[in-house]
Amino acid sequence: RPAFDPRDPLGIDAEFTAEQLAIRDSVRALCRDHVQPHVAEWYERGEFPQARELARELGKLGVLGMHLEGYGCAGLSAVDYGIACEELEACDSGLRSLVSVQGSLAMFAIWRWGSEEHKQHWLPRMAAGEAIGCFGLTEPDHGSDPASMLTSARRDGSDWVLNGRKMWITNGSIAAVAVVWAKTDEGVRGFVVPTDTPGFSAPEIKHKLSLRASVTSELVLDDVRLPADAVLPEVTGLRGPLSCLNEARYGIVWGAVGAGRSCLEAALDYATTREQFGRPIGGFQLTQSKLADMAVRVQNGRLLALHLGRRKDAGQLIPQQVSFGKLDNVRGAMEVARTARTILGANGISLEYPVIRHMTNLESVLTYEGTGEMHALTIGQALTGLNAFRG
Ligand code: FAD
Repeated sequence: RPAFDPRDPLGIDAEFTAEQLAIRDSVRALCRDHVQPHVAEWYERGEFPQARELARELGKLGVLGMHLEGYGCAGLSAVDYGIACEELEACDSGLRSLVSVQGSLAMFAIWRWGSEEHKQHWLPRMAAGEAIGCFGLTEPDHGSDPASMLTSARRDGSDWVLNGRKMWITNGSIAAVAVVWAKTDEGVRGFVVPTDTPGFSAPEIKHKLSLRASVTSELVLDDVRLPADAVLPEVTGLRGPLSCLNEARYGIVWGAVGAGRSCLEAALDYATTREQFGRPIGGFQLTQSKLADMAVRVQNGRLLALHLGRRKDAGQLIPQQVSFGKLDNVRGAMEVARTARTILGANGISLEYPVIRHMTNLESVLTYEGTGEMHALTIGQALTGLNAFRG
């Protein structure tokens, strides 16, 4: 009989192939060698100084656009991609965000809805991490309700002219290409915007107290003139951006498990070494109850992620199921992080340990890619048949 493994209590690793465990180990090694030693300092400074170098390392590993076929992408499965996301976010949600936005938002938009020229021009460089992408949907006054966006694209001869502002855009200031969603006479369309186009700028947003080791920017579009072929030809309407968000949300389902797992591991190490009243705090029943709840939460999250990943690989995953996973796994990771923080006592608020960093990062993860409320409403609508989005 297999022994109980505190790091894999349900034996879920046995569900993975040798190749999948190798993916996990190689992503884990990249995190350990290139990010872990620095991430607390980057977080404290509110910077992500090596994002471009890291993108190239991630590209070498095949993690960027990992589940896409062709154009230099690795063409691996959804479960493979999920395993990578769990490892990346066990390190830091900012690192996973870099990869999610690159692969699931910017590259996926081009891969799914772009022209052959877009794909050939951008995807190989993006897969290699030589060109970073961003995805501009949210605006200062329109977040959960993107249908009300104000950013516009109008025809001028055969050109397009874009005007407007996007807000909270991950990778914005370091991107070579922005996929920007704008209103046109035909409905919402996506545009492939090289960031050196005159009229485009991406000032970085400062003063964040979450996802600090991640670049977040405003996109300013001031009479940005683009050729006719800059538009993503294969989609009109919100179906375009929503299809991309669904991809990225799937990665978050796994990523949140990683953040929770990292907090649990830190709490477990701490509980077995920290002594009070003459014994390890892990020997107190209250601490054990917390650890047991955390372990159950993390493993349930991993099972849900694996289940959804297998459905995705079978072509069976529907958006309501992704909402289920995003809602519950992020919520679960937040609970685990908060409980871990209590186990670490005062050290729980120190960047010497990963817990407070994960805890504050998860505040962004809860909000982006559809807030918790939006996913609850999606599930509520699916359950009742009643749309509560508009009151
Ligand atoms: P609002 O939509 O104004 O919502 C405020 C509150 O009201 C929320 O609690 C919301 O759930 C609630 N609410 C709204 N409508 C309803 C309703 N009908 N019923 C009940 N409650 C409701 N966006 C991008 O396009 N690209 C990116 O790369 C990107 N990266 C991000 C990175 C970070 C660090 C952060 C914090 C955000 C990022 N976002 C990005 C933006 C993110 O997707 C939005 O913040 C999110 O969609 C919520 O929009 P909002 O902040 O405008 O909140």
